[in-house]
Amino acid sequence: MNDGDTTGTDRVVVALDVGGTGMKCALVRADGVAIHTERHPTDAARGPAAVIGTILDVAEGLADKARTDGSTPVAVGIAVPGVVDEARGVAVWSANVGFRDVPLRDLATARLGLPTALGHDVRVGGLAEARLGAGRGAGHVLFVAIGTGIAAAHVVDGVAAIGAHGAAGEIGHIMVRPDGPRCGCGRPGCLEAVASASAVGRRYAELAGGSTDGAVTAAQVADRAAAGEPLAARVWQEVVEALADGLATGQALFDVATIVLGGGLAQAGDRLLDPLRVALRERMTFHREPRLVAAALGDEAGCLGAALLALDAVGVRDPQERR
Ligand SMILES: [Zn+2]
Repeated sequence: MNDGDTTGTDRVVVALDVGGTGMKCALVRADGVAIHTERHPTDAARGPAAVIGTILDVAEGLADKARTDGSTPVAVGIAVPGVVDEARGVAVWSANVGFRDVPLRDLATARLGLPTALGHDVRVGGLAEARLGAGRGAGHVLFVAIGTGIAAAHVVDGVAAIGAHGAAGEIGHIMVRPDGPRCGCGRPGCLEAVASASAVGRRYAELAGGSTDGAVTAAQVADRAAAGEPLAARVWQEVVEALADGLATGQALFDVATIVLGGGLAQAGDRLLDPLRVALRERMTFHREPRLVAAALGDEAGCLGAALLALDAVGVRDPQERR
């Protein structure tokens, strides 16, 4: 289909990044530039069938919009959280969207008549950061998203490793503190039980006892540490040390040129990156120290990454993109 167009100038892909609360959607050109963006609520409480209906409606609406504007939609890319079987195009399991074995790729292809690629939200976010964002120009990139959990994507020459079972990159479940708090996965001391954005707030509240007024966010802990509050500084240093342990393990495994930190905790910027660089350097023996940088694409990374998957699926790739 669409074989009448050989210039590539007006070809676009339909991209959706489906999260627990919202969907980020776009029409994206072959050079990775979004020419139109939309956001829609996921409203996962309606149940998976309704969410699937919204995904297909939004995707179809975007394809129609592209045609109305004189572009040719050539493929669809959809990113979802949880466990994703990218080869079969199936959203295997996702707690926050309620998906269980949803053949989303085939559903979208049937509805829109376009080739569709399904991807994992963090892996496609890493893909976008590696090819279009903070990791651009580095052949070997580890993208680490630190939010309510911690997950990573290992991207080599513009391709994210999926793993034999679709579960590559679960760096949040590296054990860093055997005596530490129990993780949601059931084991004690996983990196995300110690150093995720939610873990930082919990740890601060725990050490402060009854002396905090309500919940304290990771950003507030970072602010208070920077302002010289001893308790916050202690908690922040614990987080930095745990993250450095996790990243040092990542570097031992992958030997990347650049580590890109994304997610809510990375918004602390240099308050996180500066001490983390020092702590990571202390852990390097014969391994080469990676460049450690903040993500550049913000919360659009997942949507742009979904677009890249779609472009890859139909063999459309900007020759400049990875230079
Ligand atoms: Zn765990």
